[in-house]
Amino acid sequence: MYQSKLFTKTRKEAPSEEVAKNASLLIRAGYIHKQMSGVYEFLPLGLRVINKISNIVREEMNKIGGLELKMTVLQDSEHWQKSGRWDDSVVDNWFKSKLSSGAEVGLANTHEEALSSLLKQYIDSYKDLPIYPYQIQVKFRNELRAKSGILRGREFLMKDMYSFSRNQEEHDAFYETAKEAYKRVFTRAGIGDRTFLTFASGGSFSKFSHEFQTLTDSGEDTIYLDKKKKLAINKEVYNDEGLQESGLNKDDLEEVRAIEVGNIFPLGTKYAEAVGLKFKDEKGQSHTPIMGSYGIGVSRLMGAVVEVLATDKGLVWPENIAPFKVHLISLKQNEEAEKIYQQLQEAGVEVLYDDRDLSAGEKFNDADLIGLPYRVVISEKTIKEGKFELKKLQEDEANLVSEAEILKILTS
Ligand code: ATP
Ligand code: MG
Repeated sequence: MYQSKLFTKTRKEAPSEEVAKNASLLIRAGYIHKQMSGVYEFLPLGLRVINKISNIVREEMNKIGGLELKMTVLQDSEHWQKSGRWDDSVVDNWFKSKLSSGAEVGLANTHEEALSSLLKQYIDSYKDLPIYPYQIQVKFRNELRAKSGILRGREFLMKDMYSFSRNQEEHDAFYETAKEAYKRVFTRAGIGDRTFLTFASGGSFSKFSHEFQTLTDSGEDTIYLDKKKKLAINKEVYNDEGLQESGLNKDDLEEVRAIEVGNIFPLGTKYAEAVGLKFKDEKGQSHTPIMGSYGIGVSRLMGAVVEVLATDKGLVWPENIAPFKVHLISLKQNEEAEKIYQQLQEAGVEVLYDDRDLSAGEKFNDADLIGLPYRVVISEKTIKEGKFELKKLQEDEANLVSEAEILKILTS
């Protein structure tokens, strides 16, 4: 992509009312735009990050048998009345509206009810189960506090998967499989080393649910972490009973702040029962499937990466989710820059090419803010030597390398 064609501009200052580090930096670097408090738009650079994260999530969900679909955001209040979750006193963050007929609808904050209802038309027999439908879709929650940037949006992107199993054993096995898939997602997104499986409240369904918590001072949660076991327990279940059940030992735990980037939740038969979803076993007897729900905050994950990896200078993207792999900076309009740009493109390397007519200082400042993994600089000096300057974002040293070496390094 030619940077001269990118309409987003970097900014020296974030909006003065923006208090979150993630949103401030992402706004300044031109990745997101703030529409209003808790409502952010993803600009071309930001959307590329979101799409990369979504694709990692999609690949890992598909690997464990997930089937992607996309449900509607508009929710029929009828399903939610059956489960008891329509009332504002039960779910306090609903956005609701009315159809022209006067019927009430809600904007989905989650999809257990709607999906279970939908499946009534497709699930009849034990042969139809287990299934693991999922979607990567926008959710709406009228969050009371929206001061954490894209960590807590009023509109945000979530991957939500739901499992429908025939018995407890089948459910438990999938639940463990999902845990492993989640670990792979966070590792591939570059925060695996600071994201920990955490025992959390299981509500009325089971002893625990499990969260994936990423360590950061800006996190809203307090957890107690056993660094050796790489396991934590959320403050909400940090009591004698919770400790005993989780097998964690108080003396090995450290109190830390963290942000929940994902969670997996055993749901029992509550939602399927509420809407009347059933299947028949081999003998023709009717049963209610056992459900689980598995969420990942896709846009929150992007914010969490910024919170933990960005520096004073700007963003720092792990290669797997960077909007582009390479920032090509030409300090003078020249044929060499255009040529290497075309070669890299042809080799399948994603390049942001700063072809603008600006000073070196301005270009480097922008590149620092945008934070791509590799930087290639072409100047009068490097051209004379027939070389390019190549620098990895987190390394101080730049190397002078030939065209062949550049192609080799960046395509490996
Ligand atoms: P939290 O405890 O942080 O409010 P939650 O437990 O209500 O989240 P879930 O309903 O389980 O969250 O949603 C699944 C995932 O969606 C969460 O693990 C989180 O990563 C993400 N998420 C939840 N609320 C938001 C939000 N307002 N903005 C961005 N991501 C969110
Ligand atoms: Mg939670």
